[in-house]
Amino acid sequence: MLEAADAGRTVLAPNAELANALLDAIERAQRDAGRAWWPTPRVRDFGGWLKERHLQRQFTDSTLPRCLSDVEERELWRHVVLASESAHSMLEPAGAARAARRARRAMAEYGIPLQAIAAHGTEETTALLEWSTRFAQRCRDLGCIGSDQLLADLAGRGRDGHDAGTLCWIESPEWRPVARRWLGAHAGAPLEPCSADAPRAPPGAGAHLLKAHSADAELAAMAHWAQRGLRDRADFRAWICVPDLAQRRDALIDAFDAVLAPQRFALEAAEYSAPYAVAGGTPLADFAPVRAALALLSAASGPLPFERFSALLRAPELQSSAAEAGAAARLDVALRSRAPSAAPLAQWLEQSVQLSRAGAAPGAAAPVAAVVRLQAALQALTQLRGTQRMSRWVPAWLSAFEAAPWSLRHRWSSTEYQAAERFRELLGMLATADAVLGGHSQTSAQSIVRRAAGDTPFQVQTGVAPIWVSGERMDPWLAYDGIWLGGADADGWPPPPDPIALLPVRLQRDFGVTEAAVSTRLEAARDLQRRWQARASRCVFSCADAPDHHASLSPLLPKLPLLEGVPPQPHWRAQFDAAPVLESFFDEQAPPFDAGESTRGVGTLRAQSHCAFKGFAHTRLKAEVLERPVPGFNERERGEMLHDALHHVWSVLGDSTGLAECRRDAPRLAALLNEGALIAIEKLCRRRDPGGRWRERERLRLTELLANWLNIESERPPFAVVELEQRSETAVHGGLEFRVRIDRIDRLGDGARVLIDYKSGAALPDWRGERPDNPQLPVYALRRPTALVGVAYAKVNAAECGFVAEVEREAVFRARGTRSKLEGRASFADLLGAWSQRVEALAGQFAAGRAVLDPTPRACQTCHLQGLCRIPSILDLATLSDDD
Ligand code: SF4
Repeated sequence: MLEAADAGRTVLAPNAELANALLDAIERAQRDAGRAWWPTPRVRDFGGWLKERHLQRQFTDSTLPRCLSDVEERELWRHVVLASESAHSMLEPAGAARAARRARRAMAEYGIPLQAIAAHGTEETTALLEWSTRFAQRCRDLGCIGSDQLLADLAGRGRDGHDAGTLCWIESPEWRPVARRWLGAHAGAPLEPCSADAPRAPPGAGAHLLKAHSADAELAAMAHWAQRGLRDRADFRAWICVPDLAQRRDALIDAFDAVLAPQRFALEAAEYSAPYAVAGGTPLADFAPVRAALALLSAASGPLPFERFSALLRAPELQSSAAEAGAAARLDVALRSRAPSAAPLAQWLEQSVQLSRAGAAPGAAAPVAAVVRLQAALQALTQLRGTQRMSRWVPAWLSAFEAAPWSLRHRWSSTEYQAAERFRELLGMLATADAVLGGHSQTSAQSIVRRAAGDTPFQVQTGVAPIWVSGERMDPWLAYDGIWLGGADADGWPPPPDPIALLPVRLQRDFGVTEAAVSTRLEAARDLQRRWQARASRCVFSCADAPDHHASLSPLLPKLPLLEGVPPQPHWRAQFDAAPVLESFFDEQAPPFDAGESTRGVGTLRAQSHCAFKGFAHTRLKAEVLERPVPGFNERERGEMLHDALHHVWSVLGDSTGLAECRRDAPRLAALLNEGALIAIEKLCRRRDPGGRWRERERLRLTELLANWLNIESERPPFAVVELEQRSETAVHGGLEFRVRIDRIDRLGDGARVLIDYKSGAALPDWRGERPDNPQLPVYALRRPTALVGVAYAKVNAAECGFVAEVEREAVFRARGTRSKLEGRASFADLLGAWSQRVEALAGQFAAGRAVLDPTPRACQTCHLQGLCRIPSILDLATLSDDD
């Protein structure tokens, strides 16, 4: 091969993976030979060389058709299949297009004539022939040729003799019959593969078997084996085959990094180099700059749900600094309580600007940088409308990318640069494919680019590393120090037949498609086993148990000793065992409450009562659950509207007499309730308006609810409403100030008073006990103790209306849930004394900075702070009883 390369001949390999490995081997050999310079070796994969050759021929023969790019070919097949009659009866026409393309390629590679297929006359062959004919016709109309026809075209035009003497090719079972015949005729005998170099064989060399108890253990064993090889010899080279690499790629990288590149797991690690590389590539769409670009395109068309706008607004690609990211996050929080659940991107941006200007997002003063970038991108995208050719869409998209997700590309890593450049190339290819792709709407054009990015595998340029991981069971041709073949279990080795879809199986067998028959697969497997053992002095065959399947090594494998020294599993166990013992330190005391801080009203005491740490986190760290805009009104908004509507109704009625009179005049009552509902809805919609449909629905719901509630109120003994929710006021406990807002106070016939708080959801007597679930009513009662004989929740919801009360006279609330024992106290005044002590104690603990994890028995069930307080790692909650 070196001689051929030195003589300027082109070395042909059956696929790109082998071609890269050969090129790297030649370069290494030149360096090892001490040369400072050498001619660039011409090593090509056969498919790539055919395209290159076709292009050269076009320079001298302008009648030659243009070769379709991969994307064009995929789209053309898709169009042909989707436009056919038979597509209507298919579950997945897009899958049929892929199958048809593969079948036609196989016909060219194995020399299967159309007549042979037509002779079978099945439904599948008929469809395949129809699609194939249409595809060929479309190619003729466009003056193009599919890549699978390049060899036939080269041979058919009688120009292939020009290559004699300039080509050589490597021997490999990967060659398809038609290519093999052509190469035999035009490039002479193939270059035979290399064999393992015996003197290089290290101690303990030879072939071995390994059966791992899990797929992860198998990967870890491979990584440790490679690590040992690299320790034995600095120039150790290995080829590892993982047949299901596509499904295990992430797991493999984790396992190999844990052993061969542990620096990846350091907190500050960014780019890292590893002595191994994985073949095959990841879909281009999975790389950050491409993912961000595609996200922008899809965001710009149609209504955008809040979750997707939120992700776009906070995308790292749009933030140039931590300050900008913080401003975007604050804007996001502000939007959550004011935004609709979905809107076009333009509307989201407009609302973001308004919120920033109005100061609704503290710290996110206008303009938020991410919003400005998105506005510029949207402007570029909206310059084009209607149906356009790809050559017009692509420049608009590129301008939009440059304005937003690609505007900070100076921060990209090398991998991200490479991926973005590959995506640019892909877009460039689409922009020159107008003749094939035709005109498209924005949505349809975006679908094409999304498919193209998803179907294009991208391999970062890492060079051929010492440890090469392949997903292909093939002869690596070169000699290695070690070869490892995974997936060698009884079910997977030799692989079961896997005939090509749409082609009759018998025909495939007749034309030598190896995958079509058990016998040819068995024969090929034996041949490969022989080849692998010849290529390396260390050879390992392995298999692994699946969670639901006990694997056994394939009986086809030779009888070999088991591999010794398999590392502990899972692969991170060794690191875990080697970790230093950590010293525990319980930090349960926050600094005392500072004069510059403020409480969050009764919410602070409620959280402190649930758990001291929760009180600290909720108020002083401001740890809270983010809202999420929902279609229509959310529960909090419904509660607010109920309060406002009841406020209006009682400001008009005034007392139980007013209520009784109004109930006797049905139209007046209906008008009052309707008015209350409308006032409440209008007030709320000044902040967030989910639309007319939802407003009307809420008006109906609210008026009905108010009517039901007034029925309950009408059963009470005479009363007058003497205080209605006005402005908030300040309560002082434990030396701290708490803002409170009392909903309502009623005066009874004898001058006694009761305090009422509206609840639009569930309501329980949750104020009781030393650590009440909700100390709200006690705090309110302590604020208005004069003549007070009871407190109550007014439960106003569609499921159930009624009072839940603590009152010293049972007759005050003639409804369910009024029985009250005053927690064993003789009078409500005594109970107020107990409440005062509890509230003062809670407030005092909070003021002193008590932040112990001491949840009440049920507090953790409704708390969202487990990730912050880490109680699950301190206590095994599942094993605790209520007493615990
Ligand atoms: S999850 Fe439990 S222990 Fe943790 S803060 Fe919440 S209530 Fe306290």
